[in-house]
Amino acid sequence: MFGGALPKAEITIIGAGVIGLAVAAQVAGKDRAVYILEQNETFGKETSSRNSEAIHAGIYYPGGSLKAETCVAGNAQLYELCQRYGIGHRKTGKLIVATEEEGVGKLEALLDQGRRNGAKGLTMLSAEEIKELEPNVEAIAAIFSPSSGIIDSHALMKYFLNRAKEEGAKVAYKSKVIGIERLSNGYEVTVENRSGPFTFKTEVLINCAGLNSDRIAQLVGIDIDKAGYKLFYCKGEYFNVGNRKNRLIKRLIYPVPEPSTGGMGIHATLDLEGRMRLGPNARYVNEIDYKVDESQKGLFYRSVKAFLPFIEDDDLEPEMAGIRPKLQGPGDDFRDFVIRHEQDRGLPGFINLIGIESPGLTSAPAIAKHVEGLVKEIL
Ligand SMILES: Cc1cc2nc3c(=O)[nH]c(=O)nc-3n(C[C@H](O)[C@H](O)[C@H](O)COP(=O)(O)OP(=O)(O)OC[C@H]3O[C@@H](n4cnc5c(N)ncnc54)[C@H](O)[C@@H]3O)c2cc1C
Repeated sequence: MFGGALPKAEITIIGAGVIGLAVAAQVAGKDRAVYILEQNETFGKETSSRNSEAIHAGIYYPGGSLKAETCVAGNAQLYELCQRYGIGHRKTGKLIVATEEEGVGKLEALLDQGRRNGAKGLTMLSAEEIKELEPNVEAIAAIFSPSSGIIDSHALMKYFLNRAKEEGAKVAYKSKVIGIERLSNGYEVTVENRSGPFTFKTEVLINCAGLNSDRIAQLVGIDIDKAGYKLFYCKGEYFNVGNRKNRLIKRLIYPVPEPSTGGMGIHATLDLEGRMRLGPNARYVNEIDYKVDESQKGLFYRSVKAFLPFIEDDDLEPEMAGIRPKLQGPGDDFRDFVIRHEQDRGLPGFINLIGIESPGLTSAPAIAKHVEGLVKEIL
């Protein structure tokens, strides 16, 4: 696509994960030249294809945060998109279960937060009510979230990509952004592709580079330590549950979360084929490496045994891993998504999306609308 004369873009998006693609689908059109640059050979090879594929309801995040707002809005928008365009999904519903008395108070606080955030239809269930829904789950209380579900994340990305292309956006794979220079009316972007490095100009530059988004911010000259943009990698591994145990649950089953651990707690999810898996754990790591550490198996088994007593050690097989791009370091308090037009840092036309961890998949359509609002201030 970059053969011959170098193009001049109105909008350039770095990264073809679910966020970059959703943003592209939202801002393309209006005869604008919109480009998506992706370093891999195709879209969605990183975090967007290495997650639980859960459509979250918006329970876990503090009121007023971008995570809460975009998750609640994204939940409704995703179901609408799925229905209208035939994207694979299932509104399974979900239980967040307490197995001990001390967890019940935490569930009540979570229920209250979820309701204030606008998560739909949340109710508290007793042990008997849990047994009616999920006879094989052991718990003394649970939040039932009927609007939680699962989605085919690849099909969702394909939908966003096709919509962006139909609106005239162009995507360049194997094209890695390696340099950004501020110009008086935009940015000069240096890209490395098969034929070597080349540069082009763009008015608006949108950083959707996932695990690499802090380094893109650094390329444009932002001091990421000062700005609080430095990312921590937090690995999440999954184990597949075999021996036909997948038939023993119908919904997603999550434990009471421990926010300090950096995840929602090792939970049981189902995919659209009905396969069951456990995960993800949450381990801060220094490198991007998607291997599953088999020695974590014991931890997985022990984490779920109290509420999924039917699981045995030899049901578990290592499956896959993803890495969360976290602004929150080990033991840190809650950090929200950064979605920001960096005009006040002397970077008009530069929009950062950093720390787009869970619930980023659910939030994607709402994040895209938010970014469209920022683009309208510029173009
Ligand atoms: C273990 C785990 C479980 C999760 N579970 C859920 C869930 O159940 N529900 C939910 O809603 N969310 C979940 N999430 C979060 C969700 O997966 C992410 O928020 C979302 O996928 C982020 O998408 P993205 O497009 O920002 O990042 P990515 O998918 O990582 O995309 C970024 C893209 O940028 C490209 N890129 C980077 N640098 C450059 C460069 N220099 N030049 C060109 N391209 C570049 C990368 O190659 C990549 O393709 C989970 C995340 C993890 C890790």
